[in-house]
Amino acid sequence: MYKRTFSFLPILFLVTLFGFFTFELPTVTAQMSGNTTVEKAHEQKWAIALHGGAGYVSPDMSDERKARYMAALDSALAIGVDILEQGGSSLDAVEQTVRYLEDNPLFNAGRGAVFTSEGKNELDAAIMDGSQMNAGAATGLTTVKHPISLARIIMEESRHILFAGDGAEQFADQTIVERVDPEYFKVPARYEAWKRANENQGYLKSQPDNGWKMGTVGCVAVDKTGRLVAGTSTGGMTNKRYGRVGDVPIIGSGTYADDHIAVSATGWGERIMLNVSAHRLASHMRYTGASLNESMDYLVYELLNEGEAGFIAVDREGNISMETNTGSMFRASQSEGEEKTLAIWK
Ligand code: ASP
Repeated sequence: MYKRTFSFLPILFLVTLFGFFTFELPTVTAQMSGNTTVEKAHEQKWAIALHGGAGYVSPDMSDERKARYMAALDSALAIGVDILEQGGSSLDAVEQTVRYLEDNPLFNAGRGAVFTSEGKNELDAAIMDGSQMNAGAATGLTTVKHPISLARIIMEESRHILFAGDGAEQFADQTIVERVDPEYFKVPARYEAWKRANENQGYLKSQPDNGWKMGTVGCVAVDKTGRLVAGTSTGGMTNKRYGRVGDVPIIGSGTYADDHIAVSATGWGERIMLNVSAHRLASHMRYTGASLNESMDYLVYELLNEGEAGFIAVDREGNISMETNTGSMFRASQSEGEEKTLAIWK
């Protein structure tokens, strides 16, 4: 009798213990997943990258010149970072950063744009908001001080995406964008470069002998809400023929954003277009499951040839990738909680 009573006690204990875990465990799990979800929402980190053109510049560049480029990249980055840090939108960060670069004559966008074969400046720009799958672009502008801002207005207020030449100028007439005399864009260094190119280079179907130089500008950013935006602005390629349209205003070639990635290109526009490069990077990443860096390597080193182009991209996790196969690309980037980077060469 005694023996039988005793043998029941451990069983009773085990049953009670089992019951406790069976009923308690789901509650604990639910709480954990609840916390994880809340943390995730706060985890969205902002990130921004910009470029001031890819091409080849000799590492022998004077210290003074190098310092000027570095200071410009630094100032441009600070504009975007400031907006994102304060919880501003990636759309504002991209537009304002590009505007600064358009104003800076060191770069081939806005003031300081390269010359066409006719000795003029014809500007292209595009912006894309991946959260809306919406874009705006203009090509062949001659009097718009900040082409990126016109592109934004086209995106936000027009039912069209891309305006060209006279039509783009007429559209600008109906907006508040600042206008300037075409002379405003001309700077002596670009004029000299054009004269040299004009002497050495015809219109043959060949790679321009480092004729496209560097200086196209672009910016990509993701903000705290996960909104991805890409913007690019350029004067095109030195000595380009009248009416030539490059990759920059062609959505999916030089500029692209969706809900996974934002991309801006620089380099030989015809090659960038033939490879539908910015979209190719986005689709490689999406459909192969490759990381941002792996997808970038595929585009820059497998699809494109050496000496052709460079790209900057951010993804929705706040990862940044900046890569060129041309030897150098003026670039800068920063993401939340990380140090900034400024670079020209590898
Ligand atoms: N991609 C630009 C164009 O072809 C030029 C550049 O990025 O330097 O218009």
